[in-house]
Amino acid sequence: MVAAGYAVPACRGAALACPARRASRRAPRRAAPVGATSGDASDSSDRVSTLQNEGAYAVLAKATALEREGRDIVHLEIGQPGFATPTHIVEAGVDAIRGGKTKYAAPDGAPSLREAIAAHVSTTRNVDVRPEEVVVGPGAKPGLFFPTLAIVNEGDKVVYPDPGFPTYRAMIEVAGGTPVPAPLRADGASFDMAKLSDLVRTQKPKLIVLNSPANPTGGVMPRADVEKVVRLAEEHDFWILSDEIYSRLVYENSESDDESDDSGKAFSAISVPGAKDRVVLVDGFSKTYCMTGWRLGWAVMPEHLARKVELLAVHSYGCVAAFTQEAGIAALVGPQDDCVTMVAEYRRRRDFVVKALNAIDGVECPVPEGAFYAFPDVSAFGKSAQEIADGLLYDAGVAVLPGTDFGENGEGKIRLSYVGDAATLEEGVRRIKAYFDGLER
Ligand code: PMP
Repeated sequence: MVAAGYAVPACRGAALACPARRASRRAPRRAAPVGATSGDASDSSDRVSTLQNEGAYAVLAKATALEREGRDIVHLEIGQPGFATPTHIVEAGVDAIRGGKTKYAAPDGAPSLREAIAAHVSTTRNVDVRPEEVVVGPGAKPGLFFPTLAIVNEGDKVVYPDPGFPTYRAMIEVAGGTPVPAPLRADGASFDMAKLSDLVRTQKPKLIVLNSPANPTGGVMPRADVEKVVRLAEEHDFWILSDEIYSRLVYENSESDDESDDSGKAFSAISVPGAKDRVVLVDGFSKTYCMTGWRLGWAVMPEHLARKVELLAVHSYGCVAAFTQEAGIAALVGPQDDCVTMVAEYRRRRDFVVKALNAIDGVECPVPEGAFYAFPDVSAFGKSAQEIADGLLYDAGVAVLPGTDFGENGEGKIRLSYVGDAATLEEGVRRIKAYFDGLER
């Protein structure tokens, strides 16, 4: 369905300064890190000097090392679906390889896949999207990284959620932007909207990153907050990068009194009439169709920006494997039963984990409405998030992530992923309870 009142974007075809038609605020590059000498071929550039790994990889490495020593570890750190890719999707990919779809493909994505994505986004986000506004990539990450490179000039401020997915800060820094972390409200479902408004007024960002449902909190932003961000964007002329990779993993929408529309959905900024000119919507196949290793995702953006992002694709990864894209078409247009079953199962797992965590003295876990993460507050034990995560790993044999892997505001929290099966989750929370019950408070 097409949103009523949607108008053809005024800035289509205009230079990339749209929507922020203004001179770039150029600032000198950051100084080289201490100890670096310029002109030494062994040096890395300033651009990559602050890059950090994703915490999940670091914890997985520590856990695997313990397993090699014979320790039994329960893995609650990994953010990837425990289910297999649905069979009809696998078959479509294999058939495509056998059928010779093994050559270069279009850098912005196969036209048939872009058509399927445009139709899918038009229906699910209630907005009119054309295939020319879709860029397919190897996973959702390029849909975050490349539009940021195409929008952000040296020194431009970019607001992003803290705690939030670590790639946001990385992509902002590589683009030469200045990261402006925005705190979340206590339950992690949305920004602290008063602080966000202040940040917008004082920092004058070029771009704001939204992530709903969110990693690490599992929070789903209320529609009113998304609409507020769009109003701020119109008033202060900035772009919105909306990471909706968990869009199909929503368990309820407690904010909605309206029985019909919003229940079971996260509201997207692109659905606000007139917002489409300044929104980049990122989604993909990794979580919804259990396709993390296939590397397939997409971004929807104004066509003028899509052409620049297409060029970044041309000169970096070239294109996404043609057979993977065939599997993507099968995922979007084929039966959705596996997805529906998976969401129901995750909901059961969430209910189990959150209840079990809240039953532990000193642990407080808000009920996450989406994604597959719980983000409990464990500050009552008087230790840092890193100390708690290390204690859980080394003393209790449970791998979780410290909240600080997602930014400074994650202090006092840990992230657990509930993608594992019932036996894994039961053993995991049993060990977590034993660990916390044994701590002095
Ligand atoms: N955004 C968020 C919030 C994520 O958690 C992830 C994956 N962990 C991604 C983007 C990346 O998705 P993909 O694997 O499709 O690149």
